[in-house]
Amino acid sequence: MNKKISFSIWYVFLAIWAVILVHDFIHALQKIEELPYSEFKNLVAAEKVAEVSVSTQTLTGKLKPENESKEQKLFSTIRVEDPDLVRTLHEHGVKFTGVIESTFWRDVLSWVLPALVFVGIWYFFIQRLGQAQGGFMRVGQSKAKIYMEKDIKVTFADVAGVDEAKEELREVVEFLKTPDKFTKLGGKIPKGILLVGPPGTGKTLLARAVAGEAAVPFFSISGSEFVEMFVGVGAARVRDLFEQAKLKAPCIIFIDELDALGKARGMGSMAHEEREQTLNQLLVEMDGFDPRIGVILMAATNRPEILDPALLRAGRFDRHVLVDRPDKTGRLAILKVHARSVALASDTDLEVVAAMTPGFSGADLANVINESALLAVRRGKEQVGSAELQEAVERVIAGLEKRNRVLNKMEKERVAYHETGHALVALSIPGSDTVQKISIIPRGISALGYTLQLPTEDRFLMTKSELENKIAVLLGGRTAEELIFGEVSTGAQNDLMKATDIAKSMVRAYGMSDKLGTITLEREGQSQFIQMQGMPHEKGDYSEETAREIDCEVRRIIDEQYERVKRLLGERQQALIKGASLLLEREVITGAELKAILDGG
Ligand code: ADP
Ligand code: ZN
Repeated sequence: MNKKISFSIWYVFLAIWAVILVHDFIHALQKIEELPYSEFKNLVAAEKVAEVSVSTQTLTGKLKPENESKEQKLFSTIRVEDPDLVRTLHEHGVKFTGVIESTFWRDVLSWVLPALVFVGIWYFFIQRLGQAQGGFMRVGQSKAKIYMEKDIKVTFADVAGVDEAKEELREVVEFLKTPDKFTKLGGKIPKGILLVGPPGTGKTLLARAVAGEAAVPFFSISGSEFVEMFVGVGAARVRDLFEQAKLKAPCIIFIDELDALGKARGMGSMAHEEREQTLNQLLVEMDGFDPRIGVILMAATNRPEILDPALLRAGRFDRHVLVDRPDKTGRLAILKVHARSVALASDTDLEVVAAMTPGFSGADLANVINESALLAVRRGKEQVGSAELQEAVERVIAGLEKRNRVLNKMEKERVAYHETGHALVALSIPGSDTVQKISIIPRGISALGYTLQLPTEDRFLMTKSELENKIAVLLGGRTAEELIFGEVSTGAQNDLMKATDIAKSMVRAYGMSDKLGTITLEREGQSQFIQMQGMPHEKGDYSEETAREIDCEVRRIIDEQYERVKRLLGERQQALIKGASLLLEREVITGAELKAILDGG
């Protein structure tokens, strides 16, 4: 059971106990004597009763003071059906029917006061709960908590350096604001949007900003919390989530760490029953709702490649928005956003900070500003100076270096040449995919930089020369390193693997080798392009000798392309150097910019 819930039960017990205690205490103070009715009648007859208050079930009253003492004893008795009561009281001069003062106060004290105490404790507890939750309303009780936030103050102005992602999400805001108008105008309604990017780049922030911009409620839940639950609970939670969201539409449902929940089924050492059930439920819910009611599903992941393909199918998370680490301009913008709440001294220059923080995510930059403010406070300064900023950057880098993400200067230079090499080869070969951008901002755990190539059209067929061109582009990085530094580094391993895979497929599957002839040595569905992680290579049914020939042919194809690339880059060494220096300086350049350098000579 949830810890907080069991806590709250204890609070209730405590309150009830307090009420009982206070009630008893007041009674004890008053020393009310319980009398049999007959005894009461005797006392009245003996003229010892001063006053009586009559209620429907009891008679309470005061006795006349005994001896000289001023103390009036209180008593109560059960009211018995007695038609003579009024007359008897009257005869013996007992005041009655009037509410006795002390009884009134006793009632007040014994019931209202404990009630107040009870309410007080309750209020205190509610407040505490609210604070612990950061003001969220919590729905449900299982570990996977659904949070609902109503008035989100975050807007797009709070998210910086991810302009492309913001642009793509504007449409979603438009839809949430006026679903009817949007559909009438024929806009294609988004249903599931997957935000993809490294941790701390502002995916959650972006999702909340969409809710803030559209002024709609924001439901959030984290995929990783499902993992520890009992079978069936996760699925129920998902059903719950969608039900609640439908009631509050238009709204946003945000699932953080989707990969924890949406790993490809049957992947990993042990199939996780609970996760699969939850995932299935999610798929069912996604298919079952009509986006026109105004519910938008958003999710974040930094490992899209391990997601179950079913999640990415049309009608589910079919829109992918890349939220990448920011470039220098982006970093400056993010620093400015976070510096709004900090007093900066006039000697500070955020541009300098932006320049010295390549590879930092938005969260890292927020951390820099935060650390600098803490340092300033510790030094008793009124404003954050450049010394504090400098030191804060160093502190954050020290933290990051443990995670092996920040490149040193030499590594950066190498990566710049490597990526420029890929891009130059791609630009120099006619008919290869256009180069969109070249970046040396580290991404993910293994990619130190990347060249983003986008096909100009959807392709279903590839010719032999196109496959060869692909291999050439892949070899471009390694060859550029060799050309400039005289030796290669470990950074090209992934490229080599991919190049070899393509060459192998050419020989084995597509019959593109003259030597082995036009036969396929692979069965269907064995293509090396679509390799599932951890799936063993199935052995084809061919002889050892053929296997050796395949190896030879693969080597020949790679060698041929390597020579070609070497020649190509050798002729364009000036462009390579110029391009790499520009890339080093700016961290991200577009394909068009590199093309200009190449054409300009
Ligand atoms: P993610 O969900 O991608 O892991 P978060 O959205 O949780 O990252 O980001 C954590 C914090 O880092 C945010 O609350 C914000 O303070 C800061 N941050 C991250 N990215 C940005 C950004 N692009 N602009 C402004 N602040 C950012
Ligand atoms: Zn490469």
